Amino acid sequence: SKLVRHIAVVGAGYVGGPTAAVIALHNPHIRVDVLDKDPRRVRRWNSPHLPIYEPGLVDIVRVSRDGASARLRDASVADTPVDRIPNLFFTTDSQTSLAKADVVMLAVNTPTKTFGVGGGRATNMTTFDAAAKEVALYARPGTIIVEKSTVPCGTAQRVRKMLDEVRPGVPFEIVSNPEFLSEGTAVRNLMQPDRVLIGSDKTPSGRRAAEALANVYAAWVPRPRILEVNAWSSELAKLVSNAMLAQRISSINSISAICDKTGADIDEIAKSAGIDPRIGSQFLKAGLGFGGSCFRKDISSLTYLAESLGLPEVAHYWSQVNSMNEWQRDRFAYKIIRRLEENLVGKKVALLGFAFKKNTGDTRESLAVDVIRVLLQERPGEIAIFDPCCLSEDIIRELEPILDSATRERVHVYSDAYQACQQAHAVVVINDSDPFRQSPAKQRNSNVDGGTRTYYEPSPHVHAVSEDIVIEGSRFSYLPGQSPICAEDCPDCQSTKLRGAMSSEPVEWA
Ligand code: NAD
Repeated sequence: SKLVRHIAVVGAGYVGGPTAAVIALHNPHIRVDVLDKDPRRVRRWNSPHLPIYEPGLVDIVRVSRDGASARLRDASVADTPVDRIPNLFFTTDSQTSLAKADVVMLAVNTPTKTFGVGGGRATNMTTFDAAAKEVALYARPGTIIVEKSTVPCGTAQRVRKMLDEVRPGVPFEIVSNPEFLSEGTAVRNLMQPDRVLIGSDKTPSGRRAAEALANVYAAWVPRPRILEVNAWSSELAKLVSNAMLAQRISSINSISAICDKTGADIDEIAKSAGIDPRIGSQFLKAGLGFGGSCFRKDISSLTYLAESLGLPEVAHYWSQVNSMNEWQRDRFAYKIIRRLEENLVGKKVALLGFAFKKNTGDTRESLAVDVIRVLLQERPGEIAIFDPCCLSEDIIRELEPILDSATRERVHVYSDAYQACQQAHAVVVINDSDPFRQSPAKQRNSNVDGGTRTYYEPSPHVHAVSEDIVIEGSRFSYLPGQSPICAEDCPDCQSTKLRGAMSSEPVEWA
């Protein structure tokens, strides 16, 4: 099959950046260019301050982008040659890179369409199509075009038609290769993927293209984990994976509502069900529900597909997963309000965690936004937000749509968890950031010195809203070793250093 020497990745986001970095790390002979039209993002990828936070990512970027000889903490890459020639580049100059590439991976964003036909469910393909068109204009004949973005089924067919119109008679191969990484564990997922899915045409040239891409992955992925399927299966399999993961969360959350009204304990139920190997224990933590940029949109996309195929029952079935998720979030917000005696006026509520889970600075589809929206209707004195991984500008941008002139000045983002919680009447743990998990959640605060209540919702996992704990006391006071946030110099969680990780991660250099 074709020898790949030059890969261009279009879109330097949560998927494009880490994927390119790991491919470059394991293929020192391949030049990997990551293209983005956002010059600010590209500048940051070229700096020590990467635009996204993923544990271990800085180490890998330093090796392939800078040629640094690094002793990587991840043992799986211990045999990486040291003193390398840089082979990972971030640039806005797409034309030059596209003209040289043997393989172009499209990893641009594919959000839900908000308008017109299919609005709220269908995928908005404007960005993807524009990127594909650019490739059609500048790429060499024979270039392999890879769908890395999550796209609706049938996209490969559609892109092929589009290419024929833009560059008639010029052969291109289109391959589907969806990404299964999870934010927060992207590097580990990319280094040791459960599977790499490659979907292609079953023509000789389609097979050759799939094989060329498979060889790139085979540099570090065991062959049996590289699955070659047809393009439709590959596109659909990605949607199905996300839909089924999300479905488990909605299922357990629906049961948590029953638990709240009875004597049953959701953690005991989840444990009992999950111990059965046919069910499995993962993704069975009841909680605030799922957030992030993928689950909701991918289920919507699946729903829309079913609808378009004339299968309304299937569409209805999957749309319930999203409905249950929204309901759970509202239920949680009203629980907080009830706990504060339905009177939030003048009170301070602190939210620990804003990203949809730990170890990511991604604020998209934050679960906190809906909770804050409901709380603000009760006119609290202050909503205080702290997340060790998020930039405050990102948090504010995400909240902007639900704020007005009256509420804007009541919402504050803190860079210090202690300050965020100071004199709060309620502390709400939104995500599973490690520092928040070290809480003495089951322990009642004995320093009762006043009438006000602090509500504390332990959330030991991203999907967890387990038992509510009410801590009596006039203020939420931190005693070292007792607080929900570790002491500043905690060697285990390095809570305060996490923020620093956005800029310069502590890395061991040989
Ligand atoms: P993102 O928004 O972080 O990144 C997309 C990048 O593409 C942006 O930086 C944008 O500026 C750039 N871009 C858009 N059009 C461009 C063009 N024409 N030329 C150059 N750059 C362009 O998105 P993401 O989270 O990385 O997701 C990308 C795709 O991967 C989506 O389809 C998503 O569904 C899928 N996916 C995401 C995840 C995840 O965890 N985020 C996991 C698996 C799959």
